[in-house]
Amino acid sequence: MKDSERIIHGVVASVGAAIGRALRSFDPLFVSFNLKLRPEQVRKEVDRFRGSVEKSREQLKRMQSQLKRKSGPESSFLIDAHLLVLQDRLFVDRIIDKIENEQINSEWAIQQVSEDLFQAYDRLNDDYLRERRGDLEDIVRRLLHNLQSNPLPSFKKLPYDAILIGKVVPPSTLFELRSQRVVGLATETGSPLSHTAIMARSLEIPAVVGAPELAEVSSGDLLIVDGDRALVIVSPSDATLDEYKNRRRDEKTPKKKGRSAASAPSVTEDRVRISLGANINFSEEVRPAITIGCESIGLYRTEFDFFREGKQPDEESLVADYSLVLKSAKGAPVTFRTIDVGIDQKSWDGVNMNLGVRGLRFCLENTDVFKKQLRSLYRASVFGPMRILLPFVSSVDDLDSAHEIIAEVRQELDLKRLGYDPGVPIGVMIETPAAAQTCDLMASRVDFFCLGTNDLIQYYLVVDRSDRSVVHLYNPFHPAILRCLHQVYTLLHPTGKPVTVCGEMAADPPSAAVLLGLGFTSLSVSLAAYPRIKRMIRSVSYAQLRDLAAQILKMQKPRDVEEKVRATVYRP
Ligand code: PEP
Ligand code: MG
Repeated sequence: MKDSERIIHGVVASVGAAIGRALRSFDPLFVSFNLKLRPEQVRKEVDRFRGSVEKSREQLKRMQSQLKRKSGPESSFLIDAHLLVLQDRLFVDRIIDKIENEQINSEWAIQQVSEDLFQAYDRLNDDYLRERRGDLEDIVRRLLHNLQSNPLPSFKKLPYDAILIGKVVPPSTLFELRSQRVVGLATETGSPLSHTAIMARSLEIPAVVGAPELAEVSSGDLLIVDGDRALVIVSPSDATLDEYKNRRRDEKTPKKKGRSAASAPSVTEDRVRISLGANINFSEEVRPAITIGCESIGLYRTEFDFFREGKQPDEESLVADYSLVLKSAKGAPVTFRTIDVGIDQKSWDGVNMNLGVRGLRFCLENTDVFKKQLRSLYRASVFGPMRILLPFVSSVDDLDSAHEIIAEVRQELDLKRLGYDPGVPIGVMIETPAAAQTCDLMASRVDFFCLGTNDLIQYYLVVDRSDRSVVHLYNPFHPAILRCLHQVYTLLHPTGKPVTVCGEMAADPPSAAVLLGLGFTSLSVSLAAYPRIKRMIRSVSYAQLRDLAAQILKMQKPRDVEEKVRATVYRP
Protein backbone atom coordinates (compact mmCIF):
# COMPACT_ATOMS: atom_id res chain seq x y z
CA MET A 1 0.00 0.00 0.00
CA LYS A 2 1.21 3.49 -0.78
CA ASP A 3 2.37 5.52 2.27
CA SER A 4 0.28 8.56 2.99
CA GLU A 5 1.51 12.03 2.11
CA ARG A 6 3.42 13.91 4.82
CA ILE A 7 4.73 17.46 4.94
CA ILE A 8 8.00 18.50 6.55
CA HIS A 9 8.73 22.18 7.12
CA GLY A 10 12.14 23.79 6.78
CA VAL A 11 13.72 27.01 5.55
CA VAL A 12 14.09 28.07 1.90
CA ALA A 13 17.62 27.73 0.61
CA SER A 14 16.98 27.75 -3.13
CA VAL A 15 13.70 28.40 -4.93
CA GLY A 16 11.84 26.13 -7.33
CA ALA A 17 10.38 22.67 -6.94
CA ALA A 18 11.78 19.23 -7.69
CA ILE A 19 10.41 15.71 -7.68
CA GLY A 20 12.70 12.76 -7.04
CA ARG A 21 13.65 9.87 -4.83
CA ALA A 22 15.58 10.50 -1.62
CA LEU A 23 19.28 9.74 -1.65
CA ARG A 24 20.68 9.93 1.86
CA SER A 25 24.21 11.15 2.38
CA PHE A 26 25.87 10.43 5.70
CA ASP A 27 29.04 11.23 7.59
CA PRO A 28 30.11 14.70 6.46
CA LEU A 29 33.78 13.78 6.70
CA PHE A 30 33.41 10.77 4.48
CA VAL A 31 30.43 11.33 2.34
CA SER A 32 28.64 8.13 1.42
CA PHE A 33 25.15 7.28 0.34
CA ASN A 34 22.39 4.85 1.07
CA LEU A 35 21.30 3.23 -2.16
CA LYS A 36 18.64 0.59 -2.62
CA LEU A 37 20.09 -2.07 -4.91
CA ARG A 38 18.34 -4.15 -7.53
CA PRO A 39 18.41 -7.91 -6.67
CA GLU A 40 20.86 -8.64 -9.48
CA GLN A 41 23.34 -6.07 -8.09
CA VAL A 42 23.64 -7.67 -4.65
CA ARG A 43 26.26 -10.32 -5.41
CA LYS A 44 28.56 -7.77 -7.04
CA GLU A 45 28.09 -5.46 -4.09
CA VAL A 46 29.21 -8.15 -1.64
CA ASP A 47 32.31 -8.67 -3.81
CA ARG A 48 32.92 -4.95 -3.75
CA PHE A 49 32.78 -4.96 0.04
CA ARG A 50 35.07 -8.00 0.26
CA GLY A 51 37.49 -6.18 -2.10
CA SER A 52 37.61 -3.24 0.28
CA VAL A 53 38.24 -5.57 3.26
CA GLU A 54 41.06 -7.27 1.35
CA LYS A 55 42.61 -3.96 0.29
CA SER A 56 42.41 -2.66 3.86
CA ARG A 57 44.06 -5.83 5.15
CA GLU A 58 46.94 -5.48 2.66
CA GLN A 59 47.45 -1.82 3.57
CA LEU A 60 47.50 -2.64 7.28
CA LYS A 61 49.96 -5.51 6.82
CA ARG A 62 52.24 -3.24 4.84
CA MET A 63 52.00 -0.63 7.56
CA GLN A 64 52.71 -3.23 10.19
CA SER A 65 55.92 -4.41 8.59
CA GLN A 66 57.09 -0.81 8.07
CA LEU A 67 56.37 -0.08 11.70
CA LYS A 68 58.25 -3.20 12.79
CA ARG A 69 61.28 -2.12 10.79
CA LYS A 70 61.18 1.42 12.18
CA SER A 71 60.28 0.99 15.83
CA GLY A 72 60.45 -2.71 16.63
CA PRO A 73 57.68 -5.23 17.23
CA GLU A 74 56.24 -3.47 20.32
CA SER A 75 54.33 -0.79 18.47
CA SER A 76 53.17 -2.96 15.58
CA PHE A 77 50.63 -4.63 17.92
CA LEU A 78 48.53 -1.47 17.43
CA ILE A 79 47.87 -2.58 13.90
CA ASP A 80 46.91 -6.05 15.16
CA ALA A 81 43.85 -4.51 16.74
CA HIS A 82 42.74 -3.20 13.35
CA LEU A 83 43.46 -6.47 11.61
CA LEU A 84 41.41 -8.27 14.23
CA VAL A 85 38.41 -6.05 13.50
CA LEU A 86 38.65 -7.13 9.87
CA GLN A 87 38.52 -10.78 10.95
CA ASP A 88 35.69 -10.23 13.39
CA ARG A 89 32.63 -12.13 12.20
CA LEU A 90 30.41 -9.87 14.29
CA PHE A 91 31.58 -7.05 12.10
CA VAL A 92 32.37 -8.35 8.61
CA ASP A 93 29.68 -11.03 8.37
CA ARG A 94 27.02 -8.75 9.76
CA ILE A 95 27.81 -6.21 7.08
CA ILE A 96 27.57 -8.87 4.38
CA ASP A 97 24.25 -10.10 5.84
CA LYS A 98 22.90 -6.57 5.71
CA ILE A 99 23.95 -6.06 2.12
CA GLU A 100 22.29 -9.33 1.14
CA ASN A 101 19.13 -9.17 3.22
CA GLU A 102 18.35 -5.48 2.94
CA GLN A 103 19.76 -5.08 -0.60
CA ILE A 104 21.74 -1.98 0.32
CA ASN A 105 25.17 -0.67 -0.63
CA SER A 106 28.29 -1.46 1.39
CA GLU A 107 28.74 2.07 2.72
CA TRP A 108 25.31 2.10 4.27
CA ALA A 109 25.70 -1.40 5.70
CA ILE A 110 29.07 -0.46 7.25
CA GLN A 111 27.55 2.67 8.71
CA GLN A 112 24.64 0.79 10.30
CA VAL A 113 26.67 -2.08 11.75
CA SER A 114 29.38 0.23 13.08
CA GLU A 115 26.77 2.55 14.67
CA ASP A 116 25.47 -0.44 16.71
CA LEU A 117 29.00 -1.33 17.77
CA PHE A 118 29.87 2.28 18.63
CA GLN A 119 26.86 2.42 20.91
CA ALA A 120 27.89 -0.85 22.56
CA TYR A 121 31.41 0.54 23.16
CA ASP A 122 29.98 3.75 24.63
CA ARG A 123 27.99 1.72 27.16
CA LEU A 124 31.10 -0.08 28.47
CA ASN A 125 32.33 0.73 31.95
CA ASP A 126 35.94 -0.12 31.22
CA ASP A 127 37.98 2.90 30.06
CA TYR A 128 40.50 0.79 28.20
CA LEU A 129 37.85 -1.06 26.22
CA ARG A 130 35.93 2.15 25.56
CA GLU A 131 39.06 3.60 24.02
CA ARG A 132 39.06 0.74 21.50
CA ARG A 133 36.16 2.48 19.80
CA GLY A 134 38.85 4.58 18.11
CA ASP A 135 40.27 1.48 16.42
CA LEU A 136 36.86 0.66 15.03
CA GLU A 137 36.37 4.24 13.80
CA ASP A 138 39.70 4.08 12.09
CA ILE A 139 38.92 0.86 10.31
CA VAL A 140 35.50 2.14 9.23
CA ARG A 141 37.17 5.14 7.63
CA ARG A 142 39.65 2.92 5.87
CA LEU A 143 36.94 0.66 4.50
CA LEU A 144 34.88 3.62 3.29
CA HIS A 145 37.94 5.18 1.71
CA ASN A 146 38.81 1.99 -0.12
CA LEU A 147 35.24 1.70 -1.35
CA GLN A 148 35.50 5.20 -2.81
CA SER A 149 38.35 4.15 -5.05
CA ASN A 150 35.99 1.52 -6.44
CA PRO A 151 32.72 3.40 -6.77
CA LEU A 152 29.42 1.63 -6.83
CA PRO A 153 28.61 1.16 -10.56
CA SER A 154 25.07 2.48 -10.26
CA PHE A 155 26.42 5.53 -8.55
CA LYS A 156 28.39 6.68 -11.58
CA LYS A 157 24.99 7.39 -13.06
CA LEU A 158 22.01 7.39 -10.75
CA PRO A 159 19.09 5.34 -11.99
CA TYR A 160 16.57 7.98 -10.92
CA ASP A 161 16.16 11.71 -10.31
CA ALA A 162 17.50 12.09 -6.79
CA ILE A 163 16.86 14.51 -3.96
CA LEU A 164 19.98 14.61 -1.84
CA ILE A 165 19.11 14.47 1.86
CA GLY A 166 21.20 14.30 5.02
CA LYS A 167 22.02 15.95 8.28
CA VAL A 168 24.44 18.10 6.33
CA VAL A 169 25.51 17.80 2.72
CA PRO A 170 28.87 19.41 1.93
CA PRO A 171 28.77 21.88 -0.99
CA SER A 172 31.40 19.94 -2.92
CA THR A 173 29.23 16.82 -2.79
CA LEU A 174 26.29 18.69 -4.19
CA PHE A 175 28.45 20.07 -6.96
CA GLU A 176 29.99 16.75 -7.85
CA LEU A 177 26.63 15.04 -8.10
CA ARG A 178 24.87 17.78 -10.00
CA SER A 179 25.29 16.07 -13.34
CA GLN A 180 24.18 12.73 -11.94
CA ARG A 181 20.48 13.45 -11.84
CA VAL A 182 20.50 15.26 -8.50
CA VAL A 183 17.48 17.52 -8.88
CA GLY A 184 16.91 18.73 -5.32
CA LEU A 185 18.41 19.06 -1.87
CA ALA A 186 16.98 18.92 1.64
CA THR A 187 19.01 18.91 4.84
CA GLU A 188 18.17 18.46 8.50
CA THR A 189 20.45 21.29 9.63
CA GLY A 190 21.91 24.39 7.98
CA SER A 191 20.54 27.78 6.99
CA PRO A 192 20.10 29.74 3.75
CA LEU A 193 23.49 31.37 4.27
CA SER A 194 25.42 28.12 4.55
CA HIS A 195 27.76 27.40 1.66
CA THR A 196 25.67 24.39 0.67
CA ALA A 197 22.65 26.67 0.26
CA ILE A 198 24.71 29.17 -1.74
CA MET A 199 25.88 26.31 -3.93
CA ALA A 200 22.31 25.06 -4.46
CA ARG A 201 21.26 28.52 -5.60
CA SER A 202 24.20 28.83 -7.94
CA LEU A 203 23.33 25.46 -9.47
CA GLU A 204 19.63 26.39 -9.49
CA ILE A 205 18.77 23.25 -7.56
CA PRO A 206 15.63 23.68 -5.41
CA ALA A 207 16.62 23.30 -1.76
CA VAL A 208 15.15 23.35 1.72
CA VAL A 209 17.41 23.33 4.79
CA GLY A 210 16.93 23.22 8.56
CA ALA A 211 14.28 20.48 8.42
CA PRO A 212 15.11 18.09 11.32
CA GLU A 213 12.17 15.76 10.62
CA LEU A 214 13.97 14.62 7.47
CA ALA A 215 15.83 12.25 9.78
CA GLU A 216 12.84 9.90 9.36
CA VAL A 217 13.09 9.84 5.57
CA SER A 218 14.95 6.93 3.95
CA SER A 219 16.76 6.54 0.67
CA GLY A 220 14.30 5.62 -2.05
CA ASP A 221 11.31 7.50 -0.57
CA LEU A 222 9.50 9.64 -3.13
CA LEU A 223 9.88 13.35 -2.31
CA ILE A 224 8.95 16.78 -3.56
CA VAL A 225 11.22 19.63 -2.47
CA ASP A 226 9.36 22.92 -2.67
CA GLY A 227 11.89 25.71 -2.30
CA ASP A 228 9.19 28.34 -2.78
CA ARG A 229 7.10 27.20 0.18
CA ALA A 230 9.94 25.93 2.40
CA LEU A 231 8.64 22.38 2.58
CA VAL A 232 9.38 18.82 1.65
CA ILE A 233 6.50 16.50 0.78
CA VAL A 234 7.17 12.83 1.58
CA SER A 235 5.23 10.16 -0.39
CA PRO A 236 3.12 12.73 -2.27
CA SER A 237 -0.36 11.69 -3.41
CA ASP A 238 -1.07 11.37 -7.15
CA ALA A 239 -2.97 14.67 -7.07
CA THR A 240 -0.01 16.49 -5.45
CA LEU A 241 2.39 14.95 -7.95
CA ASP A 242 0.22 16.13 -10.86
CA GLU A 243 0.07 19.63 -9.41
CA TYR A 244 3.88 19.85 -9.22
CA LYS A 245 4.43 18.30 -12.63
CA ASN A 246 2.17 20.94 -14.17
CA ARG A 247 3.97 23.69 -12.30
CA ARG A 248 7.31 22.46 -13.62
CA ARG A 249 6.05 22.63 -17.20
CA ASP A 250 4.81 26.22 -16.72
CA GLU A 251 8.08 27.42 -15.22
CA LYS A 252 10.44 26.36 -17.99
CA THR A 253 9.91 29.29 -20.36
CA PRO A 254 10.45 32.34 -18.10
CA LYS A 255 13.88 31.01 -17.04
CA LYS A 256 15.14 31.25 -20.62
CA LYS A 257 13.74 34.76 -20.95
CA GLY A 258 15.54 35.83 -17.75
CA ARG A 259 18.84 34.58 -19.12
CA SER A 260 18.62 36.72 -22.25
CA ALA A 261 17.80 39.81 -20.13
CA ALA A 262 21.09 39.23 -18.31
CA SER A 263 23.17 40.59 -21.17
CA ALA A 264 21.37 43.99 -21.31
CA PRO A 265 23.51 47.03 -20.28
CA SER A 266 23.95 47.40 -16.54
CA VAL A 267 22.69 50.96 -16.06
CA THR A 268 20.01 52.47 -13.88
CA GLU A 269 17.06 54.40 -15.30
CA ASP A 270 18.99 57.65 -14.70
CA ARG A 271 22.00 56.27 -16.63
CA VAL A 272 24.33 55.45 -13.71
CA ARG A 273 26.57 52.50 -14.57
CA ILE A 274 26.61 49.68 -12.07
CA SER A 275 29.26 47.01 -12.42
CA LEU A 276 27.70 43.57 -12.07
CA GLY A 277 29.97 40.54 -11.76
CA ALA A 278 29.34 36.87 -11.12
CA ASN A 279 30.15 34.83 -8.02
CA ILE A 280 31.29 31.32 -8.84
CA ASN A 281 32.27 28.37 -6.70
CA PHE A 282 33.78 26.00 -9.25
CA SER A 283 35.88 26.49 -12.36
CA GLU A 284 33.15 24.94 -14.52
CA GLU A 285 30.91 27.94 -13.85
CA VAL A 286 33.17 30.41 -15.68
CA ARG A 287 32.04 29.49 -19.17
CA PRO A 288 28.28 29.80 -18.49
CA ALA A 289 28.93 33.11 -16.72
CA ILE A 290 30.71 34.54 -19.75
CA THR A 291 28.09 33.11 -22.11
CA ILE A 292 25.24 34.96 -20.40
CA GLY A 293 27.24 38.19 -20.65
CA CYS A 294 28.80 38.64 -17.17
CA GLU A 295 31.44 41.33 -17.40
CA SER A 296 33.64 39.91 -14.65
CA ILE A 297 33.96 37.10 -12.16
CA GLY A 298 33.68 39.23 -9.04
CA LEU A 299 34.27 36.34 -6.64
CA TYR A 300 35.70 32.89 -7.27
CA ARG A 301 35.57 30.91 -4.01
CA THR A 302 38.57 28.67 -4.68
CA GLU A 303 38.28 26.46 -1.61
CA PHE A 304 35.71 24.13 -3.15
CA ASP A 305 37.98 23.28 -6.07
CA PHE A 306 40.95 23.10 -3.74
CA PHE A 307 39.46 20.34 -1.62
CA ARG A 308 37.43 18.74 -4.38
CA GLU A 309 39.18 15.38 -4.37
CA GLY A 310 39.21 15.21 -0.58
CA LYS A 311 42.94 15.89 -0.75
CA GLN A 312 45.08 18.85 -1.70
CA PRO A 313 45.89 19.32 -5.36
CA ASP A 314 49.51 19.71 -6.47
CA GLU A 315 50.88 22.96 -7.85
CA GLU A 316 50.91 21.88 -11.49
CA SER A 317 47.24 20.93 -11.47
CA LEU A 318 46.34 24.21 -9.78
CA VAL A 319 48.27 26.18 -12.41
CA ALA A 320 46.44 24.22 -15.12
CA ASP A 321 43.02 24.85 -13.48
CA TYR A 322 43.57 28.57 -12.92
CA SER A 323 44.98 29.05 -16.41
CA LEU A 324 41.92 27.36 -17.87
CA VAL A 325 39.65 29.61 -15.79
CA LEU A 326 41.39 32.71 -17.15
CA LYS A 327 41.30 31.45 -20.72
CA SER A 328 37.59 30.61 -20.40
CA ALA A 329 36.94 34.09 -18.98
CA LYS A 330 38.08 35.52 -22.37
CA GLY A 331 39.55 38.73 -20.97
CA ALA A 332 36.93 39.32 -18.26
CA PRO A 333 38.79 39.93 -14.98
CA VAL A 334 38.58 37.10 -12.43
CA THR A 335 38.84 37.76 -8.69
CA PHE A 336 40.34 34.63 -7.12
CA ARG A 337 39.69 34.51 -3.41
CA THR A 338 42.40 32.49 -1.67
CA ILE A 339 41.07 29.48 0.22
CA ASP A 340 38.66 30.29 3.01
CA VAL A 341 38.57 27.16 5.15
CA GLY A 342 35.63 27.43 7.48
CA ILE A 343 31.84 27.75 7.72
CA ASP A 344 30.16 24.53 6.71
CA GLN A 345 33.08 23.40 4.64
CA LYS A 346 35.03 20.31 5.54
CA SER A 347 37.48 21.24 8.25
CA TRP A 348 40.62 19.28 8.93
CA ASP A 349 39.29 17.97 12.22
CA GLY A 350 35.55 18.49 11.92
CA VAL A 351 35.18 21.61 14.09
CA ASN A 352 33.20 24.73 13.20
CA MET A 353 35.82 27.37 12.64
CA ASN A 354 33.65 30.46 12.35
CA LEU A 355 35.46 32.14 15.21
CA GLY A 356 38.68 30.22 14.87
CA VAL A 357 41.37 29.50 12.35
CA ARG A 358 39.42 30.57 9.27
CA GLY A 359 40.34 32.15 5.92
CA LEU A 360 43.58 34.11 6.00
CA ARG A 361 44.28 32.93 9.56
CA PHE A 362 44.45 29.38 8.28
CA CYS A 363 46.73 30.45 5.42
CA LEU A 364 49.08 32.32 7.73
CA GLU A 365 49.39 29.21 9.91
CA ASN A 366 49.77 26.89 6.94
CA THR A 367 52.13 28.87 4.77
CA ASP A 368 53.02 25.88 2.60
CA VAL A 369 49.38 25.61 1.46
CA PHE A 370 49.07 29.38 1.05
CA LYS A 371 52.32 29.68 -0.91
CA LYS A 372 51.36 26.84 -3.19
CA GLN A 373 48.11 28.54 -4.07
CA LEU A 374 49.75 31.94 -4.53
CA ARG A 375 52.49 30.49 -6.74
CA SER A 376 49.85 28.78 -8.85
CA LEU A 377 47.79 31.94 -9.17
CA TYR A 378 50.79 34.06 -10.16
CA ARG A 379 51.97 31.46 -12.65
CA ALA A 380 48.50 31.43 -14.24
CA SER A 381 48.31 35.23 -14.27
CA VAL A 382 49.92 35.44 -17.71
CA PHE A 383 46.71 34.04 -19.22
CA GLY A 384 44.36 36.89 -18.40
CA PRO A 385 43.48 39.70 -15.99
CA MET A 386 43.11 38.51 -12.42
CA ARG A 387 42.88 39.86 -8.90
CA ILE A 388 43.83 38.09 -5.67
CA LEU A 389 41.44 38.51 -2.76
CA LEU A 390 42.27 37.67 0.87
CA PRO A 391 39.33 36.46 3.00
CA PHE A 392 38.59 36.88 6.71
CA VAL A 393 41.14 39.61 7.37
CA SER A 394 40.85 41.18 10.79
CA SER A 395 43.90 43.40 11.19
CA VAL A 396 46.55 45.40 9.40
CA ASP A 397 49.05 42.90 10.86
CA ASP A 398 47.29 40.05 9.03
CA LEU A 399 47.61 42.01 5.86
CA ASP A 400 51.27 42.79 6.36
CA SER A 401 52.00 39.11 7.00
CA ALA A 402 50.12 38.16 3.84
CA HIS A 403 52.08 40.75 1.84
CA GLU A 404 55.38 39.34 3.14
CA ILE A 405 54.40 35.89 1.95
CA ILE A 406 53.25 37.24 -1.41
CA ALA A 407 56.63 39.00 -1.79
CA GLU A 408 58.46 35.73 -0.97
CA VAL A 409 56.42 33.86 -3.55
CA ARG A 410 57.22 36.42 -6.20
CA GLN A 411 60.91 36.24 -5.33
CA GLU A 412 60.82 32.46 -5.70
CA LEU A 413 59.20 32.80 -9.12
CA ASP A 414 61.80 35.38 -10.15
CA LEU A 415 64.61 33.06 -9.07
CA LYS A 416 63.12 30.24 -11.07
CA ARG A 417 62.55 32.61 -13.98
CA LEU A 418 58.88 31.71 -14.10
CA GLY A 419 56.73 34.35 -15.81
CA TYR A 420 53.89 36.15 -14.01
CA ASP A 421 52.03 39.44 -14.03
CA PRO A 422 53.67 41.67 -11.38
CA GLY A 423 50.68 44.01 -11.43
CA VAL A 424 48.07 41.54 -10.11
CA PRO A 425 45.87 43.66 -7.78
CA ILE A 426 45.65 42.43 -4.18
CA GLY A 427 42.47 43.04 -2.20
CA VAL A 428 40.79 42.16 1.07
CA MET A 429 37.34 41.01 2.03
CA ILE A 430 35.65 43.28 4.51
CA GLU A 431 33.70 40.64 6.39
CA THR A 432 34.73 40.98 10.01
CA PRO A 433 33.66 43.89 12.24
CA ALA A 434 37.36 44.62 12.74
CA ALA A 435 37.89 45.04 9.00
CA ALA A 436 34.76 47.18 8.68
CA GLN A 437 36.02 49.51 11.40
CA THR A 438 39.57 49.76 10.07
CA CYS A 439 39.23 49.45 6.29
CA ASP A 440 40.59 52.97 5.83
CA LEU A 441 43.78 51.87 7.64
CA MET A 442 44.08 48.96 5.22
CA ALA A 443 43.47 51.05 2.12
CA SER A 444 47.08 52.05 1.50
CA ARG A 445 48.09 48.39 1.58
CA VAL A 446 45.61 47.06 -0.97
CA ASP A 447 44.31 47.75 -4.47
CA PHE A 448 40.64 46.92 -3.91
CA PHE A 449 38.04 45.72 -1.42
CA CYS A 450 35.20 43.24 -1.49
CA LEU A 451 32.41 43.53 1.00
CA GLY A 452 31.35 40.11 2.27
CA THR A 453 27.97 40.80 3.80
CA ASN A 454 27.28 37.12 4.56
CA ASP A 455 29.92 37.05 7.25
CA LEU A 456 29.74 40.70 8.15
CA ILE A 457 26.08 40.31 9.12
CA GLN A 458 26.69 37.11 11.08
CA TYR A 459 29.50 38.66 13.09
CA TYR A 460 27.84 42.05 13.51
CA LEU A 461 24.50 40.66 14.65
CA VAL A 462 26.04 37.64 16.41
CA VAL A 463 23.90 35.24 14.39
CA ASP A 464 25.53 32.03 13.16
CA ARG A 465 24.78 31.96 9.44
CA SER A 466 24.58 28.15 9.41
CA ASP A 467 22.21 27.83 12.37
CA ARG A 468 18.57 27.44 11.51
CA SER A 469 17.38 28.35 14.99
CA VAL A 470 18.56 31.96 14.63
CA VAL A 471 17.82 32.41 10.94
CA HIS A 472 14.98 34.87 11.69
CA LEU A 473 17.50 37.18 13.38
CA TYR A 474 19.77 37.36 10.35
CA ASN A 475 18.63 40.60 8.77
CA PRO A 476 20.41 42.85 6.25
CA PHE A 477 17.91 45.63 7.02
CA HIS A 478 18.98 45.87 10.67
CA PRO A 479 20.00 49.47 11.45
CA ALA A 480 23.35 48.15 12.76
CA ILE A 481 24.10 46.74 9.32
CA LEU A 482 22.96 49.87 7.47
CA ARG A 483 25.13 52.03 9.71
CA CYS A 484 28.07 49.68 9.31
CA LEU A 485 27.80 49.73 5.51
CA HIS A 486 27.36 53.50 5.49
CA GLN A 487 30.49 53.80 7.60
CA VAL A 488 32.49 51.53 5.30
CA TYR A 489 31.40 53.61 2.31
CA THR A 490 32.29 56.86 4.09
CA LEU A 491 35.71 55.55 5.13
CA LEU A 492 36.59 54.14 1.74
CA HIS A 493 35.10 56.65 -0.69
CA PRO A 494 37.88 59.24 -0.15
CA THR A 495 40.54 56.57 -0.76
CA GLY A 496 39.29 55.97 -4.30
CA LYS A 497 39.82 52.20 -3.89
CA PRO A 498 37.21 50.13 -5.75
CA VAL A 499 34.72 48.20 -3.58
CA THR A 500 32.55 45.32 -4.80
CA VAL A 501 29.78 43.87 -2.67
CA CYS A 502 29.75 40.11 -3.15
CA GLY A 503 27.64 38.78 -0.27
CA GLU A 504 24.09 37.49 -0.72
CA MET A 505 22.75 40.91 0.23
CA ALA A 506 23.63 41.90 -3.33
CA ALA A 507 21.59 38.99 -4.74
CA ASP A 508 18.15 39.94 -3.46
CA PRO A 509 16.65 42.94 -5.31
CA PRO A 510 15.44 44.95 -2.27
CA SER A 511 18.66 44.59 -0.26
CA ALA A 512 20.75 45.08 -3.41
CA ALA A 513 18.86 48.33 -4.02
CA VAL A 514 19.80 49.43 -0.49
CA LEU A 515 23.46 48.82 -1.35
CA LEU A 516 23.15 51.04 -4.42
CA GLY A 517 21.42 53.67 -2.29
CA LEU A 518 24.31 53.57 0.18
CA GLY A 519 26.66 54.39 -2.70
CA PHE A 520 28.07 51.00 -3.72
CA THR A 521 28.13 50.79 -7.51
CA SER A 522 29.76 47.41 -7.98
CA LEU A 523 27.99 44.17 -7.10
CA SER A 524 28.76 40.52 -7.71
CA VAL A 525 26.11 37.81 -7.47
CA SER A 526 25.56 34.14 -8.30
CA LEU A 527 24.61 33.20 -11.85
CA ALA A 528 21.10 32.31 -10.68
CA ALA A 529 20.60 35.81 -9.25
CA TYR A 530 22.32 37.63 -12.12
CA PRO A 531 19.26 38.18 -14.38
CA ARG A 532 17.01 39.45 -11.57
CA ILE A 533 19.63 41.86 -10.23
CA LYS A 534 20.27 43.15 -13.73
CA ARG A 535 16.51 43.75 -14.07
CA MET A 536 16.42 45.53 -10.73
CA ILE A 537 19.34 47.79 -11.69
CA ARG A 538 17.66 48.72 -14.97
CA SER A 539 14.35 49.47 -13.25
CA VAL A 540 15.52 51.89 -10.53
CA SER A 541 16.71 55.47 -10.33
CA TYR A 542 20.06 55.77 -8.58
CA ALA A 543 19.21 59.28 -7.35
CA GLN A 544 15.97 57.98 -5.81
CA LEU A 545 17.79 55.14 -4.10
CA ARG A 546 20.29 57.59 -2.60
CA ASP A 547 17.32 59.48 -1.12
CA LEU A 548 15.79 56.25 0.10
CA ALA A 549 19.05 55.28 1.84
CA ALA A 550 19.20 58.65 3.60
CA GLN A 551 15.69 58.01 4.94
CA ILE A 552 16.19 54.42 6.06
CA LEU A 553 19.43 55.31 7.84
CA LYS A 554 17.25 57.24 10.28
CA MET A 555 14.84 54.38 10.94
CA GLN A 556 14.88 52.28 14.08
CA LYS A 557 13.47 48.88 13.25
CA PRO A 558 14.50 46.34 10.59
CA ARG A 559 10.84 45.62 9.77
CA ASP A 560 10.11 49.29 9.03
CA VAL A 561 13.21 49.56 6.86
CA GLU A 562 12.26 46.47 4.92
CA GLU A 563 8.68 47.63 4.37
CA LYS A 564 9.86 50.99 3.08
CA VAL A 565 12.38 49.41 0.73
CA ARG A 566 9.95 46.80 -0.59
CA ALA A 567 7.38 49.50 -1.26
CA THR A 568 9.90 51.38 -3.42
CA VAL A 569 11.82 48.66 -5.23
CA TYR A 570 10.38 46.54 -7.98
CA ARG A 571 10.80 42.85 -7.22
CA PRO A 572 10.72 40.66 -10.32
C1 PEP B 1 30.63 36.76 2.38
O1 PEP B 1 31.02 36.46 3.52
O2 PEP B 1 29.75 37.62 2.17
C2 PEP B 1 31.15 36.07 1.20
C3 PEP B 1 30.89 36.49 -0.02
O3 PEP B 1 31.92 34.98 1.37
P1 PEP B 1 31.41 33.55 1.86
O4 PEP B 1 29.93 33.47 1.67
O5 PEP B 1 32.16 32.57 1.03
O6 PEP B 1 31.82 33.51 3.30
MG1 MG C 1 32.77 35.29 3.85
